[in-house]
Amino acid sequence: MSNVYTAIDKSGSYRVYLAVTTDLVEEARVIHDTSPVATAGLGRVLTGTGLMGLMLKNQSDKLTVIFKGDGPAKQILATAFADGRVKGYIANPYVDLPLNECGKLNVGGSLGIGDLTVIKDLGLREPYVGTIALVDGEIADDLTAYYYISEQQNTAISLGVKIDTDCSVKAAGGMIIQMLPDAEDGAVDALEKMLAELPPVTTLVEDAAKAADGRGNEQILMLMMDRIFGAMPEAYKTEGLEYRELKWECDCSEDRLEQVLMTIGEKELSDIIEEDGQAELVCQFCCKKYHFDKGRLERILASIRQV
Ligand SMILES: [Zn+2]
Repeated sequence: MSNVYTAIDKSGSYRVYLAVTTDLVEEARVIHDTSPVATAGLGRVLTGTGLMGLMLKNQSDKLTVIFKGDGPAKQILATAFADGRVKGYIANPYVDLPLNECGKLNVGGSLGIGDLTVIKDLGLREPYVGTIALVDGEIADDLTAYYYISEQQNTAISLGVKIDTDCSVKAAGGMIIQMLPDAEDGAVDALEKMLAELPPVTTLVEDAAKAADGRGNEQILMLMMDRIFGAMPEAYKTEGLEYRELKWECDCSEDRLEQVLMTIGEKELSDIIEEDGQAELVCQFCCKKYHFDKGRLERILASIRQV
């Protein structure tokens, strides 16, 4: 299970969303059979998008985050709902690159130069769409820039995925600190000081998991909160709000894939029927295969012709 703990500081200056997503990212790795750098990129995007999804107001609100670049990974996309469901994929799950100059998995290099688009579907007639140029393609700083440029909001975002020697996910997590409209200067100063000394989020997850000794994510998140915010001045210490779940879930169905077939057009569909006599569609999020036999395809074609 993957979880998020949300809290607000006593002065009402900032809100924090802290996540442990080791299980969620490992699940995505197994589904997409990702290389280490692809696991890191997809895992950071899934964690960031999942956290951003929890900020949506209504249960049916939906958020899609798309990182697109000229690098070998091409694209990483994730979708999250306000209720904590999240899914995603990377266009090239087998991307392989040498470590970067800091000795880290080169997620930025895998994406290259490109842009980040955030689509918020809030049930209005038009979704809200914001696009910015990628800062470094390392995901956290790109999302921070998105909030600053597109939503005029100050945030601090950290995301991390640590890969084990067998290529499975050893630790994954993330944190978004969101400054609130009447934030006190003292809170900003205290946060800056804290963030400057903060170890990587995967170190925080690993250390807390060790100390929690099998007592679960709630305990892990409590220990992380203590370590991150424990030394803040009294007025800016945090108080807990909610403990939530982030869950990998794909909502694909035969009906939805049938909708996709209906959009490819009459000519293409009759070509498929003639040449292949069947079609197999793979959900790009969960890799589930859907088989459409000839009779089914002919019924879909007939219904297109009726329109
Ligand atoms: Zn699916």
